[in-house]
Amino acid sequence: MTQKPLQNCGKCGFCLNACPVYKILKEEPVSPRAKLQLIKAYGNHKLASSHLLKDIISKCLMCGSCTANCPSGIDHYSAFMEMRKKMVKAHGETPAIKAVIYLLAREYRLKFGAGLAKAGQKLVPKSFSKTYKLGNIPLKNFPELNLIPFREAVDTVIFPQKKQAGTIVYFTGCATNYLYDDTGFSVIGILKHLGYKIIIPGDQGCCSIPLLFHGEKDLAFKNIISNINALKTHDADTILVDCSTCGEALKNEYPRLMEKNDRNHPAACAISSKVMDIITFIDQHFDHLEFDPGFKKKLSVTYHAPCHTRNTFQSHIIFENLLQKLEFVNYKRTSDAEECCGGGGTFFYEYPWISKKMTDKKIKNAKAVQASLWLTDCPVCRMNLAGNLNAKDNLKVMHPATLVHTALKTI
Ligand code: SF4
Ligand code: SF4
Repeated sequence: MTQKPLQNCGKCGFCLNACPVYKILKEEPVSPRAKLQLIKAYGNHKLASSHLLKDIISKCLMCGSCTANCPSGIDHYSAFMEMRKKMVKAHGETPAIKAVIYLLAREYRLKFGAGLAKAGQKLVPKSFSKTYKLGNIPLKNFPELNLIPFREAVDTVIFPQKKQAGTIVYFTGCATNYLYDDTGFSVIGILKHLGYKIIIPGDQGCCSIPLLFHGEKDLAFKNIISNINALKTHDADTILVDCSTCGEALKNEYPRLMEKNDRNHPAACAISSKVMDIITFIDQHFDHLEFDPGFKKKLSVTYHAPCHTRNTFQSHIIFENLLQKLEFVNYKRTSDAEECCGGGGTFFYEYPWISKKMTDKKIKNAKAVQASLWLTDCPVCRMNLAGNLNAKDNLKVMHPATLVHTALKTI
């Protein structure tokens, strides 16, 4: 559906029950439709800028569920991003968010910051990390950063060991590069198993979604153009993402943001047409995957469908079907598998009391189905869910690619 401007909102309210923030707070001003009206009033100079207005606009996970459920085809995303930009310009950001933005804006800064954080993780006394939280996540529950960044631990080009099935460009995102290299190694393992040549451009950087969501469109542009240049030079069948939020950026945001940029728009569209998330990829290649017959463990698995997996790729349904096809999986669906976990980029940090309510509900339901593995294909969801579990919950959170890779026959 062609997306329409916010003036087309018919105030039907379909977006209310799709909005995770509204469902917790039950306050009309934070609902998607009210946000649109506030943005309209601000644009028409009928409403002045204020900290309260910034707070209302920021009480949003940028999950895209309002857009996905709007019968009028409103483009909430663009409206929210533009408004966030204006609010940040007028009222600034907290020092912590400013620091995150500063680091994400340039890859060399992010690498330096990750190195410092890694050292910090070793030096911080256990008593401190047991006591303090970052947002709703206790410091002791944060994952250890990768020993070395994933993209430095692997070759830029990995050739297949059997007849080449095709060429894949792998956009790893920041999380796999600095935080969850197990996801990256699993993706490579699956691609090698299938016989693909893998290209991991060394000059890729943050997809820029965090910058865009914090109103830093200008900073994001430089990153985006650099990513477009890094990706367009390779002749590949598919550009693969292991994080559906990176996928949202490459698939939808890059072409939209480059619309008026004649030089980069064609390349952004070409990239968009090749983007695929790892779940869809696994599903499309399922018949060629050879599972290890010795992998007989029957695992109790549940799944959390991240917002961008649902709203950008709709691959959550594919994955749930796939889980039921895996002989070593006993899939135990939770009633709220498709509900937001409250992670939402930095939302878990900015609005911990709202986020915690969403996360606790998810955890309660995952425990109720007595699963031992909780799969999710978004690194922030993984960090948020795992970060709020206790050891006695006996639940391990993992990327779906890792489960699939673990069960494959060694080639
Ligand atoms: S679903 Fe769309 S048209 Fe209906 S109130 Fe929400 S934004 Fe407006
Ligand atoms: S993007 Fe998500 S959290 Fe934000 S208003 Fe829309 S549904 Fe609510």
